[in-house]
Amino acid sequence: MNPRALRQRLESLEAAGVTQIPKASGRGLRPETVAAPAPQRPAVAPLPHTEIATSAAANVTDRVPALRVLAEQVSGCTRCPDLAAARAHTVFGVGRPDARICFFGEAPGADEDASGEPFVGRAGQLLTKIIEACRLRREDVYILNVLKCRPPGNRAPLPDEVANCRGYFERQFELIAPEYICCLGTSAAQALLQTGEPIGRLRKRWFSYGAAKVICTYHPSYLLRNPAAKRDVWDDMRAMMADMGVEL
Ligand code: URA
Repeated sequence: MNPRALRQRLESLEAAGVTQIPKASGRGLRPETVAAPAPQRPAVAPLPHTEIATSAAANVTDRVPALRVLAEQVSGCTRCPDLAAARAHTVFGVGRPDARICFFGEAPGADEDASGEPFVGRAGQLLTKIIEACRLRREDVYILNVLKCRPPGNRAPLPDEVANCRGYFERQFELIAPEYICCLGTSAAQALLQTGEPIGRLRKRWFSYGAAKVICTYHPSYLLRNPAAKRDVWDDMRAMMADMGVEL
């Protein structure tokens, strides 16, 4: 790895709360990853992004126009009249239409409303660092939210708003068909899993959503207020990547 790439990787790890880099050992793989062992690499080597990021079964050509049609529907949606009246942009989602991993957040904030792209503000920059610490790039994954419009004052989504947006995010997951969904925070986890359990009790457990494996972790905004929790998120990311056969 060249020095610049190494420095960027170490910065991502640091921002994600990683204080130690384990030696590459082959230990810690879950049984289901043993059949397809990860290639032996030094701990900081870059991953072959397209291999790790995309599903072999992906039929991207079908998904792209379907996602575009859905995004157009979302852009004209007025199911939540107050949110629709106040928005600058709907925020549909961004990333690979054939991503193996989807990161699922709560709702756009001011920066996302202004730009139309999810997770571009401070929390988004931290999410990007977390993704990079997983030896992926932001463009290797797909990022979306429960709500496609910004709630006033960044309040949590109301049950009616989640219900109004459910068809949109469910269709996104159906089209992208990710292998892993990482729920970021309580709102995303509760909306996807249709549970009332708080994030603290949903972490460290595997759930399924259709064919996807679901893991829940803290929202990056929570990490900005509670940096000590970065360690927990890093544990969650390591668990997800280990399940994919990637030891971090
Ligand atoms: N928080 C979210 O949950 N989503 C965004 O897009 C930005 C901040």
